[in-house]
Amino acid sequence: MPAETIVLIVEDDSSFRRSLAATLKAADYKPIEADTLAAAARAIAHYRPALILLDLGLPDGDGVDFVAKLRQSALTPVVVITARDAEAMKVAALDAGADDYVTKPFGVDELLARMRAALRHAVQAKGAEPVVRTGALEINLATRIVRLAGAEIDLTPKEYEILALLAAQVGKVARHRDVLKTVWGSEGADMQYLRVYVRQIRAKIEADPSAPRYLISEAGVGYRLAQLG
Ligand code: CA
Repeated sequence: MPAETIVLIVEDDSSFRRSLAATLKAADYKPIEADTLAAAARAIAHYRPALILLDLGLPDGDGVDFVAKLRQSALTPVVVITARDAEAMKVAALDAGADDYVTKPFGVDELLARMRAALRHAVQAKGAEPVVRTGALEINLATRIVRLAGAEIDLTPKEYEILALLAAQVGKVARHRDVLKTVWGSEGADMQYLRVYVRQIRAKIEADPSAPRYLISEAGVGYRLAQLG
């Protein structure tokens, strides 16, 4: 990661904000701090950050509205910081155009992984890498061949489509409704179908399908293909 990747931290809790800034600095990012949405808007215009870390509870307005407004003029990736049990807020932020979220309390590794994924997707824009690797799993989006530890995995077309959708944004959450819409062509498709397919995929790619490492459930939000080393 180049040393001059500017990350704007928008958070009114000053001790938490400072500790985030120290964390980012240690990871070779250049953190800029804002404690209100007004200060964030000024910092965006002045510094043009590569990424924005946004707390949703700010004194001068609603973070979700802020993301929606930002998206009218900029594609800067936004990772939202949310409280536990705030599924509705997470979905609202993603709907408004946020790229991902982290839930308090989160670990440094998790935060940095979310940031890397959001930055990578911003750079790639729409053109996903043709071969996606995570852990021992390899998904070739051009040939549609999926391998686990080198051995080809036999997936049905629907199973493949779900896995490919997640692989194209590896490390990043995909909402239930977006998976349903992409794979079944309808937001109204039954969530139950999706759960069944996810179970089938896990049976084929996970060592222990009841404790998945690759295909992760994000309660109330969607699924994520974990980016493992
Ligand atoms: Ca706050």
